[in-house]
Amino acid sequence: MQILNKIQDLSEKLNHITTAPGIVRILEDFFSSLSIYIYDPSSESLRNFSKSWISVEEGGNREKAKHLYKVFSNLSGKAYVCDEESLFYALYKGNQLIGMIRFENKLEQDTFEFLNIVSYMISLKIQNVILTERMQKSIDFHDAMKNIAKIIETQYERSYIIPIIGEMIDKFVSDHLIYIFINNRLVWPNSCKDKKIFELIKCLNNKSEYILTQDRKTGVFPLTSENKLLGCIVTKSTDSVLGEKDINYLEQLTNQAATTINRANVYAEILKHATLDALTGFYNRRQLEERIKQEVSSAKRQKRNLCVIMIDIDYFKNINDTYGHAVGDLVLKHISGVIKRKLRDYDIAGRYGGEEFAIILPFTKIEEAKMVAQRLKQAVENTKTDISKINTNVKEKNINVTISIGICEYSSDDNAKTVLQKADKALYMAKENGRNRVEVYETISTSLL
Ligand code: GH3
Ligand code: MG
Ligand code: MG
Repeated sequence: MQILNKIQDLSEKLNHITTAPGIVRILEDFFSSLSIYIYDPSSESLRNFSKSWISVEEGGNREKAKHLYKVFSNLSGKAYVCDEESLFYALYKGNQLIGMIRFENKLEQDTFEFLNIVSYMISLKIQNVILTERMQKSIDFHDAMKNIAKIIETQYERSYIIPIIGEMIDKFVSDHLIYIFINNRLVWPNSCKDKKIFELIKCLNNKSEYILTQDRKTGVFPLTSENKLLGCIVTKSTDSVLGEKDINYLEQLTNQAATTINRANVYAEILKHATLDALTGFYNRRQLEERIKQEVSSAKRQKRNLCVIMIDIDYFKNINDTYGHAVGDLVLKHISGVIKRKLRDYDIAGRYGGEEFAIILPFTKIEEAKMVAQRLKQAVENTKTDISKINTNVKEKNINVTISIGICEYSSDDNAKTVLQKADKALYMAKENGRNRVEVYETISTSLL
């Protein structure tokens, strides 16, 4: 009778559990401390079920891993085997051995009998959780695909989209290092110490399929779009091999990434001839530089005053990291709107870089420019971006950012380049001195230039 109660108790507890660590916790209440190893056919490795699916090679030392493989192969067809320290209990799916539970202490006779009765129930529960996790992986994959496709809607700078693609694929195949190459040049991350990879990628052409090294630990996936080879994505692991499923996912992700990068290239080409930045409606950088040249030369000719303001949003990377890039874009759009409303009609505003803006203030003395800058700083400080329309995992409905500002007053020996450089130096000082503040170049020693 008592054993029936125990079975029912275990069954009910397992029923409520949906995660691998959860199952182990419940089982440890009934047995002693234990680990569950599941064999993953696609990577041909034994993996620790409750420790993020880490392979035994990666999780422990080599000798220990070797021993676990030996035990596992000895288990085939049996219910359990023992070594000096532990009891290994087989987990079957039908007749197929799918994994084993390792009990660190020997079990009492009645606990062992209980285990014999419930082992199939435990195995079923584990299979169930594995299936759910696979489904989650497939959801994550579709999310990554969707995100890569979505970036292009607002972004066209390759230097901006490549790290996002890199991070997304990195998250997806978390046990591999990811490298992105464009035209045989590493563009993400900053370095790759493995010289062999550089040799491998030379083998690619625009008709190539993916390349897999003999040990199946390094894969090279070509980024091909419209019959052009743009570059490749390389995945490398020192430990786990690439399974068929991973390869399939990676092929689809690289295809999607190639389309995105190709479209970004085309878009960037078109936008070179445009004048306005798509996200903020400000002049784009090329146009801004043109306008500065014009304004500087007329200030020179007519001996007029001119100031240039450089703005950079503080800790903007945190916004992307915390709330996602869609929120980052919305903040950029909102802040540029706030800035625009504080300017006069003849001020010229441009998006200088990602979250940097430059503003040309014609007919303006430094004292007035300082007031404008303070006004901008305060306006941004006092506004909040409403993010409630974007789906995020956070509770906040509004977010607040601050900006740092550098100002430079044009002097007769300046040109378009030097005024921008000086404003940039002042901005750098504003960051150095604590952010959310305004600095003027005149107070900085010229030796900095
Ligand atoms: P600080 O300027 O205060 O030193 O810190 P920061 O975090 O703002 O500095 P950093 O220059 O390192 O980061 C700027 C970030 O802006 C990096 C990039 O992800 C983000 N960014 C650049 N352009 C865009 C864009 O168009 N959209 C979004 N969402 N983010 C962008
Ligand atoms: Mg910046
Ligand atoms: Mg910044």
